[in-house]
Amino acid sequence: MDFTEPEHIRQLRDTLERFVEKEMPRSLAAQWDKTNHFPRDVFDKLAKLGVMGLTVPQEFGGAGRDILGTMVVIEELSRRSLAVSVPYIMSACYAGMNLVECATLSQKQRWLPKVADGDLIFAYGWTEPDAGADLASVRTLGERAGDRVRINGAKRFCSGAAISDYIFTLVRSGPVDSRYKNLSLVLIPPTAPGVVITPIESLGMKGAATTDVTFENVDVPFDNVIGGEAGWNTGWQMIVGSGLDVEKLEVAAMGIGIARAALDDAWAYVQEREQFGKAIGHYQSIQHKLAHMKTQLHAARLVLYHAAWMADTHQRAGVETSMAKLFVTEMTKSVALECQTIFGAYGYVKGFDIERYVRDALLLPIIGGSSAVQLNNIYKWSGSKG
Ligand SMILES: Cc1cc2nc3c(=O)[nH]c(=O)nc-3n(C[C@H](O)[C@H](O)[C@H](O)COP(=O)(O)OP(=O)(O)OC[C@H]3O[C@@H](n4cnc5c(N)ncnc54)[C@H](O)[C@@H]3O)c2cc1C
Repeated sequence: MDFTEPEHIRQLRDTLERFVEKEMPRSLAAQWDKTNHFPRDVFDKLAKLGVMGLTVPQEFGGAGRDILGTMVVIEELSRRSLAVSVPYIMSACYAGMNLVECATLSQKQRWLPKVADGDLIFAYGWTEPDAGADLASVRTLGERAGDRVRINGAKRFCSGAAISDYIFTLVRSGPVDSRYKNLSLVLIPPTAPGVVITPIESLGMKGAATTDVTFENVDVPFDNVIGGEAGWNTGWQMIVGSGLDVEKLEVAAMGIGIARAALDDAWAYVQEREQFGKAIGHYQSIQHKLAHMKTQLHAARLVLYHAAWMADTHQRAGVETSMAKLFVTEMTKSVALECQTIFGAYGYVKGFDIERYVRDALLLPIIGGSSAVQLNNIYKWSGSKG
């Protein structure tokens, strides 16, 4: 067993680290957070590094499918700002991964080169006011009329709808006679007549602002149904396919980035902050907190990168990716809160990045399948063996 990061991954990390230091200074990250702003110019520069194509096969203009590399990009960007890492996920993963896994050949030829160039961003329109964890109960209607589809309904918490090219929308496309049937995935441009986007004020994850979206008689071509004819009424199989495994890893990779940032900041702070005539890092209770968090972070990285390796090698990794999502995001939450404690009163006021890390960390066990849902899945999919 070799745990050394491959050379291309080390180079990718170095490139990203340099990019983050140059293009995403702390001052800008704080400003994007404060104004809920998506820095499109930084995203466009990121695309020039070629990292959007890490989920796209070479025949469609990408760098070839590299899940581990994709996770490294998410981790490194999330160390500084979700205002760039979330739009990266929306492009490379929401668009790239899903099109690769589920689209027709002509849809791939049409859209995947745009993903690789950083010209295609999808928002996920899955959750609804009455459909959270239970996504199979969505009510937004997609009705087919020849070569068109008409959409009526409402989506909630649709993050980045306003900055996206398409809302990747889960619709009910037939009778509600069987829970997991008659669902389809339709690409809806946010600018289409009948689409109304209303911002929702959230605690964290600023940049790709989360929104309510309503659809009133929105009309799109049937070619916008992912998978074409074969995709009509088979959307559920698409969202629980290997794309779902990778989605759990994306959230976990964000968590590793945030936890690293929080721990690095706390580590630096304890060397500077003096009380009772000594740097607080001198006190064993503080040292133990840091050592404990470093250990948690190390374990979480191993769990994440093991699951990413399984996904990379096309192994079905439902249990491992659920364990990674659960373990890493709960670790991130606990590390961010513990680091905030180390900052004392300064962890509770604006001006230090730690309060942003806490706000962002609190979200991760909720999205992409909550911790309770991951526990359900780990138990259910593990069969009779522990
Ligand atoms: C900032 C933000 C951004 C988001 N972005 C998006 C997005 O881009 N696209 C999108 O589609 N959605 C998005 N979401 C929605 C997110 O994915 C949902 O919040 C999530 O799926 C859970 O749904 P819910 O919040 O309605 O909780 P519910 O499903 O109502 O669950 C409430 C509680 O019950 C628990 N629970 C539910 N079912 C079970 C069960 N079977 N067993 C045990 N416990 C259970 C949950 O763990 C949770 O604690 C976003 C949410 C937020 C806050």
